[in-house]
Amino acid sequence: MQRIKKGDTVQVIAGKDLGQKGTVLRVNHQEGRVIVERVNIVKKHQKARQSGNQQVQAGIVEKEAPLNASNVMLVCTQCNNRTRVNFRINEEGRKVRVCKHCKQDID
Ligand SMILES: [Zn+2]
Repeated sequence: MQRIKKGDTVQVIAGKDLGQKGTVLRVNHQEGRVIVERVNIVKKHQKARQSGNQQVQAGIVEKEAPLNASNVMLVCTQCNNRTRVNFRINEEGRKVRVCKHCKQDID
């Protein structure tokens, strides 16, 4: 069971993008990294090249770089605060995440 999942809204709590919020696009559990939409943007210079039949133009491509999962906190879907997560087994026997702030289920 993971603290942060794809599609969650998280807030950055450390680093240059401190305070920014975004939607989780990808989670890499092995490396403990998350990619958050429009957060930790890096600019990559791209040279003009041929890709199949298409000409790729030279320019600057903006791309989200992974963040350390410990540098983001989940934003609760119920109370809209950033929060730590507890887990509980619900009535259906399913493990769900619980907001430590408002004590409501997040999933
Ligand atoms: Zn909450």
